[in-house]
Amino acid sequence: MANFKFYNTLTRTIQDFVPREEGKVSMYTCGPTVYHYAHIGNIRTYIMQDVLVKALMYSGYDVKRVMNITDVGHLSSDADTGEDKMLAGAKREHKSVMEIAKYYTDAFFADFDAVGNKRPDIVEPATNCISEFIHMVEVLLEKGYAYVAGGNVYFDTSKLDDYYVFSSDIEKEQLQVGVRDDVEEDTNKKNKTDFVLWFTKSKFEEQALKWDSPWGVGYPGWHIECSCISMKHLGEYIDIHCGGVDNIFPHHTNEIAQSESYLGHEWCKYWFHSNHLNDKSGKMSKSKGAILTVSVLKEKGYDPLVYRFFCLQSHYRKPLEFSFEALDNVTGAFNKLIKKIAELKDEGSVDNAVVKEFEDKFRDAISNDLNTSMAITLLYDILKADTNDSTKLAVVKNFDTVLSLDLIGHAAAVGEVKEVDPELEAYVLDAIEKRAAAKKAKDFATADAIRDELLKKGVEIKDTREGVKWQLI
Ligand code: AMP
Ligand code: ZN
Repeated sequence: MANFKFYNTLTRTIQDFVPREEGKVSMYTCGPTVYHYAHIGNIRTYIMQDVLVKALMYSGYDVKRVMNITDVGHLSSDADTGEDKMLAGAKREHKSVMEIAKYYTDAFFADFDAVGNKRPDIVEPATNCISEFIHMVEVLLEKGYAYVAGGNVYFDTSKLDDYYVFSSDIEKEQLQVGVRDDVEEDTNKKNKTDFVLWFTKSKFEEQALKWDSPWGVGYPGWHIECSCISMKHLGEYIDIHCGGVDNIFPHHTNEIAQSESYLGHEWCKYWFHSNHLNDKSGKMSKSKGAILTVSVLKEKGYDPLVYRFFCLQSHYRKPLEFSFEALDNVTGAFNKLIKKIAELKDEGSVDNAVVKEFEDKFRDAISNDLNTSMAITLLYDILKADTNDSTKLAVVKNFDTVLSLDLIGHAAAVGEVKEVDPELEAYVLDAIEKRAAAKKAKDFATADAIRDELLKKGVEIKDTREGVKWQLI
């Protein structure tokens, strides 16, 4: 088994990965909250996790991955002060909560698949596991880690030696100050950091989904689903738990608190967190109004796999800023890359020594804290290498088992002759003129709208020194 290392948030170091069972990896991923569309930032997180899965497979591991779907009321705060997002979604769209969950789960997977991701082996909606949640809460009460107050069941964080497991000592001090200042008062809590395991008393009279429980009719707290769903399918131990950086606190911190108290031993050794995609205004958010999704990118004429290529070019632990300008540049680079691959002729016999050499370099890159930009550099390197085309094609195919950019499929499509319809040509030339006029009048919104409209028709335009150039994509 090849050496594989990545940054473990729990130890705050890049660590050699050693699974509990040799050659096998059990992995848990926090799934989406399905009250709205997943934006391209959420999808960045799932792309980087997909690369992790495929990089582990490339290195010889057998990976079993489980993901939840948060389809139960998801409050924005443990103090029960945030709105119930599922209910808000249902009200907004005049649908039932379950209709909302189904619609947005399907929309999520359409985008998840379109960017080349492999689906987790098991996907489990939270509403399927209510009895498991209740059982865990009962055990936590029995063991003295939880208490009932004001109708709700709370986890007692004072029972733990170390609650802030992801933080350094300095961060712990800062967090303690922060918690005192930030968390809204919930007078039922014994400690500020305690969190709800089961609600029966909610501010939301019309809470849509409720279940019977030993503590009255209610619904689970924010964090319990991931602990239970992971144990249901992966047992008492998992090797890797994934999420975005915003999940570290409080979600993953609370998952560890309740899971390890329930189990009585360490639960998960490696925590993989990817950083956020931001737009110019800061963090992307589901609640900010218009949501930029992969489907929207597609409608605008962008290839979802070009978005994946954009994500792979930067490191998963760095924030990434999205702009259409950047995506246009990446589209250009991707098209050039595909053109080079399309020029390769599958002739001659594959030089296995060269394939092996590149395979080794590629494995080194991706198993070194997922160095995806280096992996892409190697793709360019093989295209320039002093070897025959068949060998190059073999290496490209091999790399694409991890990159998942459908490089060969795209290259095959380049060969198909695209006849230009004279009517379309006239339309394009007219649109280019109108765009030039709009730009001259500093009406950039119209100019952009014309470019977007052309992209929708499969026409890409580029401003070059020699004037505006256009091509079918
Ligand atoms: P949610 O549906 O809000 O629970 O988010 C689904 C996943 O996307 C979680 O793992 C989050 O950590 C992650 N996420 C949320 N916002 C962003 C963002 N702006 N960029 C990347 N990932 C994000
Ligand atoms: Zn989770």
